[in-house]
Amino acid sequence: MEQKNKKVPNLDFSGLSWNQLMELDSCTRCGQCLKWCPVYEFDNKEAITPMAKILSMGRVIRSQHSIFKKFIKPGTFLGKYLLPKEISMEEINEIASNLYECSTCRQCHFVCPSRIDTVELYEALRKMLVKSGIGPLENHKGLVTSSKNYDNPWQRPRSQRDRWVKIAKKDKRIKVLPQIIKPVV
Ligand code: SF4
Ligand code: SF4
Repeated sequence: MEQKNKKVPNLDFSGLSWNQLMELDSCTRCGQCLKWCPVYEFDNKEAITPMAKILSMGRVIRSQHSIFKKFIKPGTFLGKYLLPKEISMEEINEIASNLYECSTCRQCHFVCPSRIDTVELYEALRKMLVKSGIGPLENHKGLVTSSKNYDNPWQRPRSQRDRWVKIAKKDKRIKVLPQIIKPVV
């Protein structure tokens, strides 16, 4: 209930390039990317398709930054009919979560007739969402804390960075220990 009533913060798209802003409006809905996305093949949820990722963020930017908002007040008679529908907190959290359902393989870029630089776009959008307070997502918080504390996401101190190699050597999965360069701290 609390989530439903919470207002979506004004998202700051200024970190996106002009090209990326245009890309949010460049999807022709041709559906090519759907045939090639390995994550969609694995989890058949329409909202995680490259097409849905792009269209939903396009909807968010229009809802918050529509030029008509300069002339028409939201909530008025005209506003109800002419302004894009407001995005709810529930929707924006769902959209943010779907943006991370991606292996960054770039297949969608290669097959897209509009040549949208999808991965760069998703990454810029994720950054923008976190900066605007939509994130880190609940299941990312541990990774962020670990990165801050240990400079790695595995929740282990720096001294244990090469632990996995030693285990692999002990289990005879590798013959020699590879040289791992440790940064000076
Ligand atoms: S980059 Fe992401 S969205 Fe695009 S095809 Fe690969 S997994 Fe799917
Ligand atoms: S291939 Fe490109 S233009 Fe076609 S639906 Fe996917 S993102 Fe949109």
